[in-house]
Amino acid sequence: MKILISACLVGQNVKYDGTNNSILEDPLIKKLLNLDILIPICPETEGGLATPREPVEIKNNKAIEKNGNDKTENFFYGADKACQLAIENGVKLAIMKTKSPSCGSDKIYDGNFNKTLVCGDGITVKALKKLGIKAFSEDDLDELKRVLSEKVSKISK
Ligand code: SF4
Repeated sequence: MKILISACLVGQNVKYDGTNNSILEDPLIKKLLNLDILIPICPETEGGLATPREPVEIKNNKAIEKNGNDKTENFFYGADKACQLAIENGVKLAIMKTKSPSCGSDKIYDGNFNKTLVCGDGITVKALKKLGIKAFSEDDLDELKRVLSEKVSKISK
């Protein structure tokens, strides 16, 4: 079993500001990493964007930088790469950074850069869900643990 994970959640400095969102202090994540189950990917850097880069939010299904530049093509290219990786590895589950315009699931920012959240998925998570992949955020680790304990008993012990 393999699980796709946002690269910034495992400490890679790929976030727009050049930092990360590491959750490696979580025992479950550490265990999954040690068992070689996690496949990290950053769809935005895979899509050709540099780090650091301008922040982006989704508006009308387009990925727009704060300065108005349209990066939608990069975002969809990165989503395709994530989907290819998921298919090649038989991925059924993903752990994706909440609120991100690429990796967010169920809630993302509204496109006005004023910290307002709306219901919706990031571009990569939307594509992964179309493949039938279940996406958890780092806020849903208890739920992920419950799902995993049904699949592989050694992970939850
Ligand atoms: Fe993290 Fe995803 Fe943003 Fe890359 S695109 S920095 S993996 S949230």
